[in-house]
Amino acid sequence: MLPTYTQEKHTAIEAVTRAADLCTAVRTTMIGTEALQKDDKSPVTIADFGAQALVCQRLLADFPEDPIVGEEDSTDLQKPENAAKLAQVTEYVRRFQPDATPETICRWIDAGNGAVARRFWTLDPIDGTKGFLRNDQYAVALALIEAGEVKVAALACPALPLKLDAPGIPAGVIFVAVRGQGAMMAPLHSDSFVAIHVTGEIDQAGMRFAESVEAAHGDQARQEALARATGITQPSLRMDSQAKYGIVARGDAALYLRLPSPKSPDYRENIWDHAAGSLIVEEAGGRVTDMHGRPLDFASGRKMLHNRGVIVSNGLLHAVVIKTLA
Ligand code: AMP
Ligand code: MG
Repeated sequence: MLPTYTQEKHTAIEAVTRAADLCTAVRTTMIGTEALQKDDKSPVTIADFGAQALVCQRLLADFPEDPIVGEEDSTDLQKPENAAKLAQVTEYVRRFQPDATPETICRWIDAGNGAVARRFWTLDPIDGTKGFLRNDQYAVALALIEAGEVKVAALACPALPLKLDAPGIPAGVIFVAVRGQGAMMAPLHSDSFVAIHVTGEIDQAGMRFAESVEAAHGDQARQEALARATGITQPSLRMDSQAKYGIVARGDAALYLRLPSPKSPDYRENIWDHAAGSLIVEEAGGRVTDMHGRPLDFASGRKMLHNRGVIVSNGLLHAVVIKTLA
């Protein structure tokens, strides 16, 4: 019998929901807080650390044998000059996990420094930290990978409206997928999951494509030309984080284009930036490959070493995109 991943799915939903709640709490009370800068110059906030601590705590409890490959580690947080930050992280984590101490929190965060294995979890505690700091989109992204294949994905998007064109509806959505079982979406904190599907329309005037807000994370000129080649005439939907995968999966956009930036042509994508989103789109009926049409490589390590760029589509447009690129 095929595994159903029932417990993995349940744990993943609860873990990313709690982490998303921590992020929401930080964002409502601490906007304007200065982020720390990592060695690669990218920002990290107390919410990134808190979210990773909460998710890893839960995975350690439910699946103690599984390695976790997460984006953050606690080295900087443990430096004496960041003692106030660690105290803030502790305060927020304790709201959700009352027994937490600075020591256990750093241990939970560093449980996310595991290595890629036959079976492992990969976590982006805040995907789109720049969007989080800008009051835009961000996501908590968690995926279970087995033999290089994503099996379970949970993606919490606390700032994403249920419907893009209905801003009256409160924001906050979770996307979930299990391989072979389809993709679903629900308002955060509800059990009201509905099946989602990519858009089946082609050559429709209303068709949109998604890309990053951050120009440095792609090649916007080439992405625009590529979208035009598929017949899309609308301007792009610019959005931070894997929320872009979510809006392709539920049919708001037909494409998400991420070509290598001319400024960093050798950039290799992180597995946690794509694992959860890619399964959600595939299970919603779409396709995900790199710009050469190759499957995404989740088996080599923290980076997708064998891929360049990422192309996400409703399936129908995929072949023309890859052909145009070639
Ligand atoms: P997005 O919100 O889609 O722009 O993606 C955010 C992610 O982009 C971050 O989590 C980074 O890991 C990743 N990133 C950083 N630099 C680059 C780059 N030069 N090209 C592509 N992605 C990048
Ligand atoms: Mg990220």
